[in-house]
Amino acid sequence: MSLPVVAIVGRPNVGKSTLVNRIVGRRAAIVQEKPGVTRDRKELEASWCGRSFVVVDTGGWLPAHAAAADPAVLVRQVSEQAERAIAEADVILCVVDVTVGAVEEDDAVARVLRRSGKPVIVAVNKVDDERREPDTWAFARLGLGTPFPISSGHGRGTGELLDAVVAALPPETEDAEDPGPDGIFSVTIVGRPNVGKSTLFNRLVGDDRSVVHDEPGTTRDAIDTIIETPDGPLRFIDTAGMRRRSRIDEATEYYGLLRALEAVDRADAALLVIDAEAGVTHQDQRLAERVDASGTAIVVVLNKWDLVKDADQRRQVLEDVADRLAFLGYAPVLKISALTGSRFDKLLPALREAEEAYHRRIPTAALNRLMQEAQAHHPPPVVKRHRPRVLYATQGATDPPTFTLFATHELPATYLRYLERRMREAFDFGPTPIKLRVRRRG
Ligand code: GDP
Ligand code: GDP
Repeated sequence: MSLPVVAIVGRPNVGKSTLVNRIVGRRAAIVQEKPGVTRDRKELEASWCGRSFVVVDTGGWLPAHAAAADPAVLVRQVSEQAERAIAEADVILCVVDVTVGAVEEDDAVARVLRRSGKPVIVAVNKVDDERREPDTWAFARLGLGTPFPISSGHGRGTGELLDAVVAALPPETEDAEDPGPDGIFSVTIVGRPNVGKSTLFNRLVGDDRSVVHDEPGTTRDAIDTIIETPDGPLRFIDTAGMRRRSRIDEATEYYGLLRALEAVDRADAALLVIDAEAGVTHQDQRLAERVDASGTAIVVVLNKWDLVKDADQRRQVLEDVADRLAFLGYAPVLKISALTGSRFDKLLPALREAEEAYHRRIPTAALNRLMQEAQAHHPPPVVKRHRPRVLYATQGATDPPTFTLFATHELPATYLRYLERRMREAFDFGPTPIKLRVRRRG
């Protein structure tokens, strides 16, 4: 498996190779006082917070003594350097020099990078002490997000910079949590005994499904079922007990619940089945909390809707759900009857929507536009004499979508919920949970 690539771009002498040395933690590249010295090596492996990546020092791509005589030639050369970096990199680290300020070549690089659609992080180098720090903000005008003040020479600020770099890397593909080796979206059906899980499952695999595969699971009697749908296959996890209706005694019930919880951890989405006639019980609530904590997408199925005929009773059940399962606020609620098949056609589309949202990746630029807009519309409240601000946000992972917000101070939980709501509305996350992490910076 190949490692993600972080390319370091910038005009000569801003400190690119010094930064590379800092990141890889050893004196690997040659640093010279003279600008534009050709390096012996330009690709080095590095890691931060458990993520490994390759650092490419693009300084070596510039011809030796790059056009010192002719600024126009240098502008062209650094633009070409940036173009090449875009083609090869997952994340681009654009280095500028605070002691010189933003010059024409920096603008040229920024122009190319802004168009790239790749995550770009601006490192303002040579901020050796805090007196220099205010000069950092001048580089915001490059239009590449909030600049990070660093000193490659001293190591100042490089930890925060690497946090941002790692957060912007594409998600690890061979994740241990990856549910199926085949990448098929995995669903588990959970619920108390007798809510109608088997009935629902048997209807799902009913005669109209063309192919049904049984697959041996991890333990001998855990059986996954893959069903074909018009939009591709879906895997149902640990369906052994659902093939036939078997009599439930207390021991198997307990065992079944443990297994269901294991299945939740392997699944991308959970169908949480609730007996609409019985309403939301305490046990349903506990189960819902457990499923929610596992980070899977959730679709609530109010089954046996055919038994809830009275309008008042129907209203009551829905109020129950809104009330007792309020923490699942984002999960769609389907009112169906597995027995009669009424509204059963809503089920697969809801799962597809969950799948799509679970894998969704939001472009960094759109994410940061929303952050600015959301904060302008409703600024964070002052806490302990500071008004916190989110400077920059990146999506570190999908499955479920996970975001890192870099903020000047701690953000109150209510404000995070506000930001989550704005993100949900803007990016239509529907049934999937999203995770927000906040890192202090500034
Ligand atoms: P590159 O051409 O962009 O790779 O730049 P280098 O890494 O070769 O650095 C150019 C010059 O800037 C060298 O003299 C470095 O010692 C100096 N330099 C690099 N980082 C810093 C820093 O954080 N602070 C200061 N004061 N000087 C630095
Ligand atoms: P499980 O223990 O969750 O797998 O539940 P089952 O699928 O075995 O269903 C328990 C009982 O509820 C059975 O008698 C089913 O026929 C009945 N049942 C399941 N779904 C429905 C439904 O939508 N409406 C009605 N009226 N009965 C249902």
